[in-house]
Amino acid sequence: MNHLEINRQHVLQQIRAAEMAANRVSGCVQLIAVSKTFPADDIRVLYQQGQRDFGENYIQEWYGKTEQLADCANIVWHMIGQVQSNKSRMVAERAHWLHTLDRVKLARRLSEQRPNHLPDLQVLIEINIANESAKHGIAPDKLLPLAREVMALPKLNLRGLMCVAQADADVTGLRHQFGQMYDLLAQLQTIVPQADTLSMGMSADMALAIECSATMVRVGSAIFGQRDYG
Ligand SMILES: *Cc1c(COP(=O)(O)O)cnc(C)c1O
Repeated sequence: MNHLEINRQHVLQQIRAAEMAANRVSGCVQLIAVSKTFPADDIRVLYQQGQRDFGENYIQEWYGKTEQLADCANIVWHMIGQVQSNKSRMVAERAHWLHTLDRVKLARRLSEQRPNHLPDLQVLIEINIANESAKHGIAPDKLLPLAREVMALPKLNLRGLMCVAQADADVTGLRHQFGQMYDLLAQLQTIVPQADTLSMGMSADMALAIECSATMVRVGSAIFGQRDYG
């Protein structure tokens, strides 16, 4: 086995163990392999081992990989980075999921630009759960107004919420933040019954996120290794 596949198997074991520890159904948490800064060849190795869902942050970099991996017919692309409005078309045309919806303007553009022959774009609203000035996402009290606008748009399917927890929070703080996300999803479900997705948890905090009801974890460095932004 390639080291990437060894790492992925290890992460999958951790996910299954966390599900079991939390009395959750085995297999209910989906692994999104976050491949930003790593080459298309690394993605291909994991694809050939059965990994289907990949997360990318930077539109330009990701777009190049979609070209290189055009033969991987069953790949599922998750855009998990910020999307400037002038880059929305690439997301509308090539992504399956967007985790970082944070404004009506972007939602309208994606809805208009999503090609008719493609299924709906699956979208998550990003919540700035610890109210950090450097973080993206909306404040919790803006959720229902934004959700009502998104629901009304064709070609978008609002599936739930995403957050990036505070980097320096302790376990108590993380549990509080993830717990708030769970409560917000319940609120969202009062107007969007099909919303079933909580994207939260990364390499360092995935077990805790799973304990707190995450349905997708976004794991980068634990699979691909440390990132080099040079
Ligand atoms: C990079 C990134 C991840 C993966 O982080 P790791 O700590 O490497 O697992 C997850 N989510 C988002 C939004 C990211 O930008």
